[in-house]
Amino acid sequence: MKEYDVVVVGAGPSGSTVAKTCAEKGLKTLLIEEHIDIGLPQHCSGWLSGSPFTERLIKTIPENLILQKVSSWRIWSPSGKVICEIKDFGFGGWFVDRAGFDKFLAKEAVRAGSDIRVGTKFVDLIKSEEIITGIKVQIKGKIENIYSKLVIGADGSRSIPLGVAFKSDLPKLNKKPKVYYPGLQYEFINIKDMTPGVIEIFFGSIFDQIFKMAFVSPLAADNAYIGFGKHRDYENVKQKHPILKERLKNAKVIRKMGGSYGVPLNVPLKKVSRSGLMLVGDASGLHGIINGMISSVLCADVAINALDQGDISDDFLKNYDKKLKRNLVSKVSIGYDMSTFSDEGMERLLDEQGDKITEYMLREISKFDI
Ligand SMILES: Cc1cc2nc3c(=O)[nH]c(=O)nc-3n(C[C@H](O)[C@H](O)[C@H](O)COP(=O)(O)OP(=O)(O)OC[C@H]3O[C@@H](n4cnc5c(N)ncnc54)[C@H](O)[C@@H]3O)c2cc1C
Repeated sequence: MKEYDVVVVGAGPSGSTVAKTCAEKGLKTLLIEEHIDIGLPQHCSGWLSGSPFTERLIKTIPENLILQKVSSWRIWSPSGKVICEIKDFGFGGWFVDRAGFDKFLAKEAVRAGSDIRVGTKFVDLIKSEEIITGIKVQIKGKIENIYSKLVIGADGSRSIPLGVAFKSDLPKLNKKPKVYYPGLQYEFINIKDMTPGVIEIFFGSIFDQIFKMAFVSPLAADNAYIGFGKHRDYENVKQKHPILKERLKNAKVIRKMGGSYGVPLNVPLKKVSRSGLMLVGDASGLHGIINGMISSVLCADVAINALDQGDISDDFLKNYDKKLKRNLVSKVSIGYDMSTFSDEGMERLLDEQGDKITEYMLREISKFDI
């Protein structure tokens, strides 16, 4: 029976990053992915939030996966007024082909020495006297045990209600559990008036009852992603929104993507490790590609030290909790309280402080680094 030092569940950006970093240090690493094609189905627009980490990362990505640099952010009020356009603040970030990006990162993990198994679904943790010693996986309907000194949960936002994080009992330590909402995103062609490089955020309860906003991410002058709460919200926007109604008039949906968000956004679980187990990326309660990848580098660092010293105890691994909170805890929890705003209240707030809030938010996000 093959036993690993580290088994990583989920080949998203967080899982592939942690697998690559562990394998580079000579750990016997396995990365598993439930889907047979890494990166698909795609559920995100592939905006890499701007930060020094992102600027270093982008230099390593094949050019054909880089779609465009973000040059500015345009903010719209619920009534359809431009509140501000924040330009040239240095760290606007980049759009990448998200499916290709995930595949590229997984290849990098394998090139670094990690083993990989696709079509392999995590179903449960194996515990021995409360210490996690491996995972049970399902492959073509059959259950198999994989033993490992450390298990790293990188299985995305569904981890907390359903996956590795849930099976670990860690979320029970949370005072306020996360609430999960579906995230819909449509890709449109023949949409009018998009400006490549300019991300637009439209505020208003028409988009979604929880976040009350939509990200409109351009791919070309007539091609964009827009996020909605539900399909019904899209229908409303198409018929009634003061600006997007016109832009969407002849637009066609060419792709529908679905995912989920844990709210509050980007607030990690109270504990992200326990003896034999660590959580990274969305599985740890974070949100965003770059935040997930940064958490993975921090996690790998502690995992490598833990295995080097032969200590995978709760006490040792909580160094990762400390690092995560020091480096990544967001000062901006976007969206959490938006549900309490009326459109009139939002219009007033944006009118008075929209430019300052946007600039502050973008600058705070861009500080995340290792
Ligand atoms: C509509 C939408 C748009 C978004 N747009 C952006 C954006 O533009 N920029 C940004 O930074 N963030 C965006 N996000 C958030 C972003 O997608 C996540 O934060 C990011 O993907 C987290 O990466 P991850 O590796 O932690 O998890 P994921 O990317 O979710 O990867 C988890 C992996 O684990 C696998 N997996 C799950 N369960 C199992 C299992 N039981 N066994 C084996 N494998 C399993 C999954 O198949 C997946 O490959 C968006 C989210 C949504 C819903």
